[in-house]
Amino acid sequence: MYPKLQISLKGIENNSRVVSELCKNQGIAITGVVKSSNSYEESYIPIAKAMKKGGIESLGDSRMKTIMRMRELGYKGEIMLIRIPMISELEDLVRYADCSLNSERKTLELLNQEALKQRKSHGVVLMVDLGDLREGIEEEEELMETARLCEEMEGLELLGIGTNLGCYGAIVPDEKNLGRLVELAEKIEAMIGRRLKIISGGATSTLPLIVEGRCPERINHLRVGEGILVGRDIAEIWQVDIPGIRKDNYIIQAQVIELKEKFSHPLGRIFVDAFGKTPTYEDRGRRKRALVALGKRDVGDLDGLTPLIEGVEVMGGSSDHGILDIEDAKEEINLGDILSFNLYYGAMMNSIESCSVSIEYRED
Ligand SMILES: *Cc1c(COP(=O)(O)O)cnc(C)c1O
Repeated sequence: MYPKLQISLKGIENNSRVVSELCKNQGIAITGVVKSSNSYEESYIPIAKAMKKGGIESLGDSRMKTIMRMRELGYKGEIMLIRIPMISELEDLVRYADCSLNSERKTLELLNQEALKQRKSHGVVLMVDLGDLREGIEEEEELMETARLCEEMEGLELLGIGTNLGCYGAIVPDEKNLGRLVELAEKIEAMIGRRLKIISGGATSTLPLIVEGRCPERINHLRVGEGILVGRDIAEIWQVDIPGIRKDNYIIQAQVIELKEKFSHPLGRIFVDAFGKTPTYEDRGRRKRALVALGKRDVGDLDGLTPLIEGVEVMGGSSDHGILDIEDAKEEINLGDILSFNLYYGAMMNSIESCSVSIEYRED
């Protein structure tokens, strides 16, 4: 059945090893982030196992539903909830996860009550907002007060602090913002009279700093998803090479359903497309094109796809169709052919969530 997403577990294991060894050399532990599927939830276990084989012991996910499913499927290792918990999911959080990222005092108070009720200790990493403007405490005073309260709560263990960069605000992790994180951690340590276990300096986007040896010394933890699973952002967006990283772990395949020569500029008055947007089109005359049975319902935006045949270009598409310019394709393309595409993280995540995409593990 097509479209088909092929996943290389060996590639994920390889990238886990490369990233965890790179980080281990600088005293940094990794939580492997497995944010993905509802529709193909069983993939968590093979992926978790591949990460573990590659040397990653701790896993993180953003959704309780996934974490509960992983426990149901028998996963016993450490799991961190990496989205700030909803107040309505604290009972499950304490029961199924070991630790979580937090930023709200009220949530922590309720989390503490729940942990005490279940006679458990729940680990807490307090999130600090260093300018990316998604989650986290901004004010030093509020951070210190929250840390102090957290330290006093018997059901919670204050593991440390962390930050998230390069998500909403697209802020680059650097010596300055991560240096500030370390400074805040040391102020908390002075207040509570002990060392914090975790100073979590972000996600994949912090890896360039590590490659270049510029990461502040006391940063000792990262939460890495893309850099292990897909492995393309660091090389292609950040232009930083991590030797040994594989970039072909996820490949999506789709079948050619129409092969024609057409105008590259639509005919008639341009108004709105299927999604209410008014696009622009480059007029390149008549071009050879292939229509594939793969659309936004399968991968989200089609520009997250990279065709594996050289010279093929993704022009766009709609819910169920992908449109390719194949005029300059370096290989012959026929009706019924199966074409392969590399995916960026967003397209990978959409495809793994899509119930219309079948999933297969690749051997290599
Ligand atoms: C998604 C996410 C990560 C992982 O991000 P990558 O860029 O895929 O490495 C880490 N931390 C948090 C809080 C996240 O939401």
